[in-house]
Amino acid sequence: MILVLGGTAEARELAGALHEARVAVTSSLAGRVSNPRLPAGSVRVGGFGGPDALARWLADRDVAAVVDATHPFAQRISASAAQACTSAGVPLLRLQRPGWSEQPGDRWHWVADLDAAARAVPALGERVLLTTGRQGLSAFAAVRDTWFLVRCVQQPDEPLPPRHRLLLSRGPFTLAGELALIDEHRIEALVCKDSGGPHTDAKLAAARERALPVVIVRRPPRPAVASVASVAEALAWARAHARDGEVHARDAHAG
Ligand code: NAP
Repeated sequence: MILVLGGTAEARELAGALHEARVAVTSSLAGRVSNPRLPAGSVRVGGFGGPDALARWLADRDVAAVVDATHPFAQRISASAAQACTSAGVPLLRLQRPGWSEQPGDRWHWVADLDAAARAVPALGERVLLTTGRQGLSAFAAVRDTWFLVRCVQQPDEPLPPRHRLLLSRGPFTLAGELALIDEHRIEALVCKDSGGPHTDAKLAAARERALPVVIVRRPPRPAVASVASVAEALAWARAHARDGEVHARDAHAG
C-alpha cells in the first residue's frame, strides 16, 4: 500500500490517480477540517502520535512507500514522516508544488513568518485581506489600528485582531471574485503565505491589477528528502514502488 500524507489538492489528485491505476492507496488527513473533500481510495483521519508511532504504523501495515503531499507550511508532519520513514526503512517522496514568484507590477514584501507579517502590516494599509489560514492568526491579535478581512476555510479558534470581519470560504477563487472582494471592502493590502500553485493565486493577480502591496510569508525549512513538483512525477514514483499484486478492493474482486 502507498500512504499519501494529504490535506492538499495535489494529494487528492495523486490518490485519485493511484486508485485509477489500481494501486492500493491510503490517504491520511490531519482531521482539522470538519467536512474535508475526500480522496478516492482508503482514508484515515487524525495524527499518528509522532514519528515513532508513525514508524510503527508503517511497519504494522507493511506500507511500500510514502508520499508526503502535505501543505508547504505543514512542518511537523513532514519532519515526522522523514524520521519515521528512515527508521522504518520505507521510501519517502515529497510532493511539493513550486512557490509563487513575482511578476512585473507586483509589490511583494517577503517576510519570515506570521509575526513578521503582523509587524509589516500597519505601514502598508488600514484595510487588509488576511488569507494565511486559521492557524497562527493570533500573531495578528495585537494589531489594533488595522481592519482585517480574515478569510479562512473554517472557524478559527485563536484570538483575532480587535477590528475584523470573518469570511469563511474555501473557494474556488477567481480573479473576478477577488477583484470584487477587494473593491467591496476597500482593501489596501493583502497578507498570505507562499502556498504556491494555481488554486489560490487569483488573489495575487487581483492585487497586481489593483497595485496593492502583498505581504507574503516565506516557506519554512523542510527536511532534505527526494522531492518532485508535479502529481505526474509522484504518480510514476509511487507506481514504481507499489508492490506487485497489491490492488485495491474493486479490482481484487474483479479478479
Ligand atoms: P503540522 O503542524 O505539520 O502537523 C501537526 C500535527 O498534525 C502532526 O504532528 C500530525 O500529528 C498531524 N498531522 C498533520 N498532517 C497530517 C496528516 N496529513 N495525516 C495525519 N496527521 C497529520 O500540520 P498543520 O500545519 O497543522 O496542517 C494540518 C494539515 O492541514 C496537513 O495535512 C496539511 O496538509 C493541511 N494544510 C495545512 C495548511 C497550513 O497552512 N499549515 C494549509 C492547507 C492545508 P502526529 O504528530 O500526532 O502524527
